[in-house]
Amino acid sequence: MKTKMQTKEIKNFKMSNEVYLLRRKVINMIYEVKDHIKTLPRVEVRIGEARCEDNLLGLASRGKCQLWITKKAIDMNEDALRNIVYHELVHAVFGFKHDDKCPLMQPTLKTILKKEECLKHLLKYKNYKGE
Ligand SMILES: [Zn+2]
Repeated sequence: MKTKMQTKEIKNFKMSNEVYLLRRKVINMIYEVKDHIKTLPRVEVRIGEARCEDNLLGLASRGKCQLWITKKAIDMNEDALRNIVYHELVHAVFGFKHDDKCPLMQPTLKTILKKEECLKHLLKYKNYKGE
């Protein structure tokens, strides 16, 4: 069954060349992870804008391999965007909730990790599944 991927908090952008390029940036970061986790399932990605909460950067459907990234997040620098994408991936793929003690899974973006650190924290969650 195919259902539309929608969420109350983020209004999906309609696909266009411009939106395709925005989504490409996010998908490229997911591929970085796939280089380290060959078994990473396919993740559906939508790009949009927050309906109410201006600071919203991303969202995920926990454990359902679906995530949303806002244009606001994509307009941030590369490291910030990676933190947001990896954070949502942990929700979307591994199904984990927030953890105040984890710089990647804090509920709000406080620490911007460099690529290596970001990946290290993401891989922690993969290993919890015992793979
Ligand atoms: Zn989160």
